[in-house]
Amino acid sequence: MTQDWDAGRLDSDLDGAGFDTLAVRAGQRRSPEAEHGEALFLTSSYVFRSAAEAAACFAGESGGNVYSRYMNPTVRNFEERIALMEQAEQAVATASGMAAILATVMSLCSAGDHILVSRSVFGSTVTLCEKYLKRFGVEVDYVPLSDIAAWQAACKPNTRMMFLESPSNPLAELADIRALSAVAREQGALLVVDNCFCTPALQKPLTLGADIVVHSATKYIDGQGRCLGGVVAGRKEHMQELVGFLRTAGPTLSPFNAWVFLKGLETLRLRMRAHCEAAQTLAEWLVQQPQVEHVYYAGLPSHPQHELAKAQQSAFGAVVSFELKGGREAAWRFIDATRLLSITANLGDSKSTITHPATTTHGRLTPEARAAAGIRDGLIRLAIGLEEVADLQADLQRGLDAQS
Ligand SMILES: *Cc1c(COP(=O)(O)O)cnc(C)c1O
Repeated sequence: MTQDWDAGRLDSDLDGAGFDTLAVRAGQRRSPEAEHGEALFLTSSYVFRSAAEAAACFAGESGGNVYSRYMNPTVRNFEERIALMEQAEQAVATASGMAAILATVMSLCSAGDHILVSRSVFGSTVTLCEKYLKRFGVEVDYVPLSDIAAWQAACKPNTRMMFLESPSNPLAELADIRALSAVAREQGALLVVDNCFCTPALQKPLTLGADIVVHSATKYIDGQGRCLGGVVAGRKEHMQELVGFLRTAGPTLSPFNAWVFLKGLETLRLRMRAHCEAAQTLAEWLVQQPQVEHVYYAGLPSHPQHELAKAQQSAFGAVVSFELKGGREAAWRFIDATRLLSITANLGDSKSTITHPATTTHGRLTPEARAAAGIRDGLIRLAIGLEEVADLQADLQRGLDAQS
């Protein structure tokens, strides 16, 4: 690539453009090298026309590309698109969702800092904190996601970061992001929101006062179960720290995966709308079934945080969990009776999935810790894909029929 790369930027044409236009167009350039659509630059390094041009690129004077651990045009397109969709100053792509979380902490925290983490976060996030961050002198405490007073009370003078997912997995609990951002500001801490379950199509945490958004792009951003990736978005001052870390440590996003995600983003809102509509239909149907003790879905008016969900999300997401009467045996019987749903812990795929959290995603917790997290043995988690809702309902009916 050459230093002419920035010629022909289209960003100015997107001033005031709506979300769906950004999802399809943002980050795209019409340069001589990429006249048609999203070009995929599968290259590790870049060749220069002269020694002087190489020197200028290496000195950072010309903005040209040096090496794909530093910069890749396809990855940059993806970063620019996500930044606009999350209404962030800048976004930085990573090799996976976990790499996004690792890069955020490694770039912005130091030994002696204290991090507050919601009790209801992705399992590997907890392992990262417990097994690794603590080893490097970062203090970590856990707080109940929705209890603002508990977050406030757990703050210490060295609290540098507050980390949460909303809605939570698998019980669909919410954090009031605006209220927590006030707590973080008062404390001088950064509020980081893992926005994986909502995507910017349903929720934009930065507009609610969060400082940083992280994503596993592996889920809905791809949306079809093809690639691993992650992305972090926020203010330039913070993202520059992440850029420095990623360039040095190396968990950068593959350009191929960035290209797949660019294509995924083009249909993000349409997919999320379909996922959410089907999830709502199935949640409302499950509530009526006598074999079902409880349904966890913020789209149900009976959900204790339904109003908050309506206020901070544009729809309620595609993860529906429910408690079957009859504990683990009933749950396993249900799962084994389905024929269409994929039995797996994944989500964010066009294929619907079914999970028994107590013996898979939360299987390594002690029974006491599981009970404290509200993960009971009869709990089943569905991540609704893009199949016909009638076919999904018929498959769930097989699970119910197996109970009698
Ligand atoms: C999957 C997931 C992650 C981790 O993402 P990977 O891409 O698998 O590394 C982090 N947070 C949430 C909420 C997830 O669902």
